[in-house]
Amino acid sequence: MPVVRAVAAERFPARRAAGRGPGWCRGDCHVHTVLSHGADLAPGQLAVAARALGLDFVATTEHNTSAGHGAWGPYAGDDLLVILGQEVTTRTGHWLALGLDPGHQVDWAYGVRDDVIDRHLAQVRRPGGLCVAAHPYAPYPSGVLGYPYRWFDAIEVWNGQWSSDLPWNADNEAALAEWGRNLAYDVHEGRWWPAVGNSDAHLAGQLGTPHTVVFAEELSTDAVLAGLRAGRSWIAGSAAVGLELTGSAADRVAGIGERLDSGGEPVTVRVQVSGVPSGAVSLHTEHGVVHRERLPAGGAGSVEWRTTARDSGFVRVEVRHPDRQMAALTNPVILA
Ligand SMILES: [Zn+2]
Ligand SMILES: [Zn+2]
Repeated sequence: MPVVRAVAAERFPARRAAGRGPGWCRGDCHVHTVLSHGADLAPGQLAVAARALGLDFVATTEHNTSAGHGAWGPYAGDDLLVILGQEVTTRTGHWLALGLDPGHQVDWAYGVRDDVIDRHLAQVRRPGGLCVAAHPYAPYPSGVLGYPYRWFDAIEVWNGQWSSDLPWNADNEAALAEWGRNLAYDVHEGRWWPAVGNSDAHLAGQLGTPHTVVFAEELSTDAVLAGLRAGRSWIAGSAAVGLELTGSAADRVAGIGERLDSGGEPVTVRVQVSGVPSGAVSLHTEHGVVHRERLPAGGAGSVEWRTTARDSGFVRVEVRHPDRQMAALTNPVILA
């Protein structure tokens, strides 16, 4: 007797993967398949690669189409959340729409002078979606972001695609510099824009370089996007890199993306890194680089630094390999 499968219900991945409570999870929110120009991967290949790398989630972001959403259902599971999205390649910059409803297609045919992007951003945010400014300094026509960072919810300061020979290049350095410079005033004003990193994978071997490690209440689209929106995240150059950052004052502790109310007490900043042999850890505040330390040849080490909320409104961390290639960078811990 032929088996009739309930195909429609299984085509789209669930918004929630069961059985995972609060914790840090790793994922890549900018990924292309054969539906995008220049990409040659099938969803199944990407899912195999994601699991092999130990990623907990990926977001599917084809250029200007949601036609591929229905292909991902069979590859998602309780160990791999698939977030539905789209890369919107407008005439003056690209952005990622993450957390779309199945089949929701976002309009892309406009530029900054058309004054319509806010309408499209609002459409994505309404059902709980996240809008990410993609590769702001990509060196090709329409790749450079012509919109201000503050119109989006997060900034992709590290994009792997246009530097596939080197995981970190001048375009990423420029995106990071603008983001880092804005932080000083944005934190002071009470609203800052989180950094994220994605591979923008088009070809085999690119997935996960880099990816974002985010604190989520559970492994679900809404919880992962909430973590990214709050900046409770850091960017890893590879799955081999581990990092923890906290600020503490008296008996209070705050992590990445959180606010430490120091009550005027001295603040101790602690960083723990693994997987970056002889790497350089640097701490950054509104004063720029305030502390530097070298990791041992084994690649694992910790750094401690003291400050006060009066001296430093926030602290964030970069970890670089000896050749200055980025290994990890964090969103700030806010000090108050
Ligand atoms: Zn793009
Ligand atoms: Zn892309």
